[in-house]
Amino acid sequence: MSRRVVILGAGPAGLAAAQAALARGAEVTVLDEGERAGGQFWRHHDGLTDPRMQHQWSRFERLRGALQRARVHEQASVWHVEADGGLRVHAHIGPADSTDRAALTVDADALVIATGAHDRALPVPGWTLPGVVTAGAAQALAKRDGVTPGRRTVVAGAGPFLLPVAASIGLAGGTVAEVVEAVGRAAIMRGWGRAPWQLAGSAGKAGELAEYVGDLLRHRTPYRFGSAVTRIHGDRAVEAVTVQRIDADWRPIPGTERTIECDSVALGHGFTPRLEAAIQAGCAISPERFVAVDDRQATNVPGVFAAGEVTGIAGADAALAEGAVAGFVAAGGALGDPRLRRILDARRRMHAFAERLATHAIRPGWTAWLDDDTIVCRCESVTRARIAEYADASSRGMRLATRAGLGACQGRTCGRSVEALVAASVDYDHRPVLSSIRIGELAGLHDHRTPHQEQE
Ligand SMILES: Cc1cc2nc3c(=O)[nH]c(=O)nc-3n(C[C@H](O)[C@H](O)[C@H](O)COP(=O)(O)OP(=O)(O)OC[C@H]3O[C@@H](n4cnc5c(N)ncnc54)[C@H](O)[C@@H]3O)c2cc1C
Repeated sequence: MSRRVVILGAGPAGLAAAQAALARGAEVTVLDEGERAGGQFWRHHDGLTDPRMQHQWSRFERLRGALQRARVHEQASVWHVEADGGLRVHAHIGPADSTDRAALTVDADALVIATGAHDRALPVPGWTLPGVVTAGAAQALAKRDGVTPGRRTVVAGAGPFLLPVAASIGLAGGTVAEVVEAVGRAAIMRGWGRAPWQLAGSAGKAGELAEYVGDLLRHRTPYRFGSAVTRIHGDRAVEAVTVQRIDADWRPIPGTERTIECDSVALGHGFTPRLEAAIQAGCAISPERFVAVDDRQATNVPGVFAAGEVTGIAGADAALAEGAVAGFVAAGGALGDPRLRRILDARRRMHAFAERLATHAIRPGWTAWLDDDTIVCRCESVTRARIAEYADASSRGMRLATRAGLGACQGRTCGRSVEALVAASVDYDHRPVLSSIRIGELAGLHDHRTPHQEQE
């Protein structure tokens, strides 16, 4: 009997895992809460997405083509994973806001967790004004809907992700007033310039980068290094930002403030892995707070594999290679199989690329640009001062007293920032329910006709 492989997430990692597992003859089920397979990298909407925003599209088409032999459930929100005495995944299928989603339970011999990451935006005074979005949201708006967050946008944060975001805003008809990168030019040269031969195999990424830089030059878009948006101004919506030089620890340097007029801001300071499904399955988390995997992409839980950004932020090419390894092994393949050789090489090269991303890691001085009344938890309007009051309380006490991270996003947006302010891990990644579920849906679960088998 062929192995039943369930894949959670249909981004680059999940799609590559599905293709590899299918090629090894597994029976594959793919679940993703998005409207269409593709994940963040290949987010699209036929007829609306400008093809110039997509990279490696033909690769996506090949992966999507392979899925014809799999059971694919889009708009499938996985809310519970069981890994104790058998692997079982519970989902609800249908638009997140609909009242008649169908319950689905799938049993598996192997599970590949490829849940990706959220983009992270640090709080800034004024960031709750209309017109401020995360860089990932700006990218999603441009790719999926062909619109921009405003007419004149400042893109600010850290890391190479700012480049595709600026390019997409331009392609969607907006103007990028300035791109503001927190890391200084010299630190970037040091970080990316060391051992350049290790990057020789990342030619695809280099080409993509050259395209974005050319785009910025063509549009004469200023690119500032070693600077941050430290304040966003506006009465009812964004009207301008203060851009300020920051030191190597990201502390604002007094006297360097400039004002830039704009009607929108896209903030992106890196990514936070979506760990909750892996944690629920019992997977060990590394000290760097990613799912810990071995060379086979296997976690510590028998039969559970993980791939893509949930195991480390390394970009779409690494996610593709890791996914292919995970799917191949989950379907019963061995790491020593010669068919994996090229993929393992690609994974190694992309991990060398990923190490350079650490150049853009968040530094602790950013908290110096907050005011006492800056809102940190947007869902519950909790200010920096309120969080500071409870900095010495237990993590549970701080959460209950301030409500920081207890709102609709459950700490997905603010969690790591709250942790930086209380200088402790608050553990927002443990979630007994992985995605929103109606009480009626929970109540209806006892009617499940055959919970041990997939139902459609
Ligand atoms: C908002 C955003 C936009 C990005 N845009 C780009 C870009 O344009 N270019 C670029 O180079 N990189 C981009 N990135 C980085 C990008 O995430 C990766 O390089 C690449 O997509 C990682 O692939 P992945 O398969 O690991 O994760 P993803 O592509 O994030 O795929 C993970 C999938 O898991 C699904 N999922 C997660 N939890 C559940 C659940 N409980 N139930 C059901 N489904 C679930 C998600 O819906 C998602 O489709 C973006 C990241 C973010 C957060």
